Amino acid sequence: MPNLDAQIRERLSDPKRFLENGIEPLIDAITVVLDRHALHPDGGIGYHPDDGSKYERMSRVCISCGPPDEYAERWPCPEIRAIAAALGVEADGG
Ligand SMILES: [Zn+2]
Repeated sequence: MPNLDAQIRERLSDPKRFLENGIEPLIDAITVVLDRHALHPDGGIGYHPDDGSKYERMSRVCISCGPPDEYAERWPCPEIRAIAAALGVEADGG
């Protein structure tokens, strides 16, 4: 699998080509990312996103970005924010 990242980016550069099979595969791929970056039900501990020096418990953290019990990433994480932005959904409220 030589340079998978480059191959994916090449496909993305030609949307007509990767949409030949319809939009469902793309929706499925986005759904996988949503599932992998879901809101952790128990919250987590990490550096506060608005004050990087503050290490504290946060109620809304991602289940995948950083270990939730040590370096949690606030939810919505960058991946969820990117998807929300692409779909025109406000992400700040979580
Ligand atoms: Zn995440």
